[in-house]
Amino acid sequence: MTKSSGTPSDGAPPRSEGRRKFAKLVLALFALLLIAAAVFLYWPLTQRSVPAAGNDKPVDVVLVGGGIMSITLATFLQELQPDWNIQVFERLDGVALESSDGWNNAGTGHSAFAELNYTPELPDGSIETKRAVGIAEQFEISRQFWSHQVKEGRLSQPSDFINATPHMSFVWGDDNIAYLHKRQQALVKNPLFYGMQYSEDPAQIKAWAPLLMEGRDPNQKVAATWMPLGTDVNFGVITRQLTAGLQRNPNFSLHLEHEVRALRQNDDKTWNVTVKDLNAGTESTLKSRFVFIGAGGAALKLLQLSGIPESKNYAGFPVGGQFLAFQSPEIAGRHSVKAYGMAETGSPPMSVPHLDARKLDGKPVVLFGPFALYSTKFLKHGSWFDLYSSVNHNNVAGMLDVGMENLDLVKYLMGQARLNDDDRQAELVKYFPNAKREDWKLVTAGQRVQIIKRDPEKGAVLQFGTEIVTDQDHTLAALLGASPGASTSPPIMLDLLRKAFPAQMAAGWEARLREIVPSYGRKLNDSAALTNEIRRQTSDTLRLPFLDVPEGTSPAVMLTPPAPVTEKRNANEEMQAL
Ligand SMILES: Cc1cc2nc3c(=O)[nH]c(=O)nc-3n(C[C@H](O)[C@H](O)[C@H](O)COP(=O)(O)OP(=O)(O)OC[C@H]3O[C@@H](n4cnc5c(N)ncnc54)[C@H](O)[C@@H]3O)c2cc1C
Repeated sequence: MTKSSGTPSDGAPPRSEGRRKFAKLVLALFALLLIAAAVFLYWPLTQRSVPAAGNDKPVDVVLVGGGIMSITLATFLQELQPDWNIQVFERLDGVALESSDGWNNAGTGHSAFAELNYTPELPDGSIETKRAVGIAEQFEISRQFWSHQVKEGRLSQPSDFINATPHMSFVWGDDNIAYLHKRQQALVKNPLFYGMQYSEDPAQIKAWAPLLMEGRDPNQKVAATWMPLGTDVNFGVITRQLTAGLQRNPNFSLHLEHEVRALRQNDDKTWNVTVKDLNAGTESTLKSRFVFIGAGGAALKLLQLSGIPESKNYAGFPVGGQFLAFQSPEIAGRHSVKAYGMAETGSPPMSVPHLDARKLDGKPVVLFGPFALYSTKFLKHGSWFDLYSSVNHNNVAGMLDVGMENLDLVKYLMGQARLNDDDRQAELVKYFPNAKREDWKLVTAGQRVQIIKRDPEKGAVLQFGTEIVTDQDHTLAALLGASPGASTSPPIMLDLLRKAFPAQMAAGWEARLREIVPSYGRKLNDSAALTNEIRRQTSDTLRLPFLDVPEGTSPAVMLTPPAPVTEKRNANEEMQAL
């Protein structure tokens, strides 16, 4: 007789009971998962205890991070209020060792001369120049700020940190060529873009940039623009020199290898800043009237630690960069421009390739890239847990939403993660046809953290610009995002001064700012005369070329109003250049 298994008579549990047990197990696991997710999203469940503040009288300003942003703000503040006690805390053993270091970014003085993604073609075929003009205006403020620092002796000889390096755009294919020509025609009418040249002549383009043309198929149609007023900037040198300048004032202190670990607001609106001395392993707390979070990629996490309501609107995801570096003098000596291309069809604008002449460690170098590097770190010297620890119940839905909306960006990043040296070489020869594999080495640059912001109307939005977040009491500010970046650190910090110190600005700071940035409050692009006046001064001090803009050069008159630009949630349609 055959036994039927699972019958009560054989001693095994009945089948329905087994199913019940299994369902219970699944439910228990699910509940456990929910609890784990809740703990993860609401972590930390309680605030850890920190040492009491060691000072009764608060210091005036604490700046977290020793990158170009904090140091630029400290420099402005010291000029405006030399009696203020300013303290900078930096976790590494020097300033400018993260994104602001010369090797960790592309060093482009972003003026929108060459970055094609700042000038999209509108549906009616016209070129939108507003964003490009805005960025060019901002860079003129940076030039004035740095000129002032040279005159004040805080920055040394300009060739140590800024060098004339013409900016080129270089394209192939009929559509791209037609677009580039239209772009040049639209921009060159503006005083800030006067002098931009256009050519489809291979001999002319070769004269501007031989490496782009040598070895290229003579039948390939190409076009380029060339702007003699472009620059290469070493933001690391600027940061280090400005820091040395700040240290001449006894009211300024820089604390290296000190990491800010907690930020708590007191009832009187001052902040307790808890700092770990990474050498001694001890923690201490300092009371401050104002805190600036200039921690680069790590700013998001510190903003969240501050607990201000505004911090709940943000999330971020990191994207690193890699470049191919040519250090041989034979190659570096033959390329003296920054040549920006166009993102290939289907690739996001952040993948715009460029072949750049740089001056790093006092020597000419050529860099090609960037290649995106996927990592969960928020800083180059950060932790693999950075991304996970920034996810919480306030931002998790927005992050998932943006991930779904930007699948092509996710795909692009995954593709970049799979690249090998042969793939990189294949990209390179599109711009430098005679390049040899053995001539370059791959270098890892800095990390950027792109902002995901909760918008009351549009939901979660991925942003590529920078954003200053301030609390409503004007006691804390943070800088999120990194584009256009270090080039525009002075105008970004001016904006921060306006947002965070409105009373002081009205009570006299603005008058002093006009001495530091003579065009303060005025637009250069509106006037050839003002462009000439300001550029003559800064070109003279910074030893940069000057072009006299003829009177009558004025922004292009729009014959037909441009079609409204619809807000895009998709990263691939945002504007970004690394
Ligand atoms: C690949 C790449 C290419 C780029 N190319 C360009 C370009 O061509 N032109 C341009 O203008 N910009 C460019 N940028 C952007 C530019 O580098 C950044 O905008 C700029 O350097 C940001 O400066 P920062 O001071 O905010 O940050 P950082 O220079 O990163 O400085 C932040 C500092 O904060 C410190 N810190 C962090 N957390 C703490 C803490 N808890 N306590 C104490 N200290 C802390 C860090 O150690 C770091 O030193 C590029 C960036 C990348 C990644």
